[in-house]
Amino acid sequence: MTTLHVPPLPGPADPVSPPAAASVSPPAAAPAAAAPAADLSVWPASTIPLAHGDLAVAGVPLTEVAERFGTPAYLLDEGDVRARCRAYLRAFKDADVLYAAKAFLCRAMAHWVADEGLGLDVCSAGELELAVTTGFPADRIVLHGNAKSPEDLRAALRLGVGRIVIDSASEIARLAAAVPPGSRQKVMVRVVPGIAAGGHAKIRTGTDDQKFGLSLTDGSAQHAIARILGRPTLELVGLHCHLGSQITTEKPYLCAVRRLVGLMARIKEQHGVTLPELDLGGGHGIAYRPGEDALDIASLARKVRAELTESCAAAGLPVPRLLVEPGRAIAGPAGVALYRVLAVKRTSGRTFVAVDGGMSDNPRPALYGVRYAPRLVGRRTTAGPEPVTVVGRPLRGGRRPRRRRPAPRRRTPRGPAGCAGRGSYHLSMASGYNLVGRPPVIAVADGHARLLVRRESLEDFRGRDVGL
Ligand SMILES: *Cc1c(COP(=O)(O)O)cnc(C)c1O
Repeated sequence: MTTLHVPPLPGPADPVSPPAAASVSPPAAAPAAAAPAADLSVWPASTIPLAHGDLAVAGVPLTEVAERFGTPAYLLDEGDVRARCRAYLRAFKDADVLYAAKAFLCRAMAHWVADEGLGLDVCSAGELELAVTTGFPADRIVLHGNAKSPEDLRAALRLGVGRIVIDSASEIARLAAAVPPGSRQKVMVRVVPGIAAGGHAKIRTGTDDQKFGLSLTDGSAQHAIARILGRPTLELVGLHCHLGSQITTEKPYLCAVRRLVGLMARIKEQHGVTLPELDLGGGHGIAYRPGEDALDIASLARKVRAELTESCAAAGLPVPRLLVEPGRAIAGPAGVALYRVLAVKRTSGRTFVAVDGGMSDNPRPALYGVRYAPRLVGRRTTAGPEPVTVVGRPLRGGRRPRRRRPAPRRRTPRGPAGCAGRGSYHLSMASGYNLVGRPPVIAVADGHARLLVRRESLEDFRGRDVGL
């Protein structure tokens, strides 16, 4: 149950004194002795409570960020991102850890990830160009995509991307022909292992009824592999799978290991080829609200390693090099969105708190029905917690889906209020909806805040709009 400690609500935030900035987390900011202690478990590890209900992330008070950069604003705790990269490398020893750029990418993010020794997984020429022009070593980059455009493939070959993951049969000839004669492009094959896993139907990609990859069950993966092996400009280095996202149990990954090793054994039998790499994709789940399950990365790594060793021994194969591609689990928990409360409305027994962001910076509630645990910061209150529904500003962001049953009186905010867990799949999916403009991205580290990506302005919109 998410509540905001909303002090006796006077109505719209006072426009003279700075309105409260709402950010995310569990039980509301609770400075009063009687109020519950702040549960900061889903916030960046550096988060500490300050006086007056404020919070500091990486030593930077959130009220200061809101004042200096305006709202809505997205913060990334650089130290938290780096610590997560290191935790992955520690857990997955003898494996390559690739950050999945589609979770969130900007130049600084590419730099941090490269600096920590991770690789990168990209799915467009845009992500690829941004990373390479930031200095990310191209040979540590893997290109994915179920429908790679000619530009995507050209950019990949021109920049010398490390691996291209083949996702469909039609791609094989196209790619093989595009590789300059005499050179070879390393490729992997994205296999659909027939495993249902993931937090929402729209983000399950391990089953046969979706658009990604080549099926193991109907033989299309095996067929594609035979064709790739017949192409002298392509070098098949391994198998890839990505089961989905927000997966919170280890079992689907272990099952995927067994199935992919099984396929590797058949490839060896039929073609005499031993593939040196196995990429298990990402999808590692995180908690968005206190008490939610997150995947234990160290435990996942141990079990995957054990399963891989065992399956390979049983199949008489050498153990391939393992690759994993976490996106959400690296960027998500390191990010915080800051909004301002613009309006408070009480209607038919419910309280709506409208903030200055919404679907244009966070489409996840609309896409997947996700919920957050926002909290007010920078406002002291002695009032008890009160259940409110946090809604966004853009039109659809604040609309509640129709419910068949009467809504319970105490409910979780459904709209995008300011939140922790905002580092991934928020800004990367932000849009120009309502011409609100995308928020800036601010890095916080060692008590300092610095602008990474500036706020999108009306000038930006006008600049693109060239007709009349
Ligand atoms: C999206 C994606 C990932 C990352 O998924 P997360 O849920 O963010 O960990 C990794 N690999 C591929 C191929 C993807 O499409």
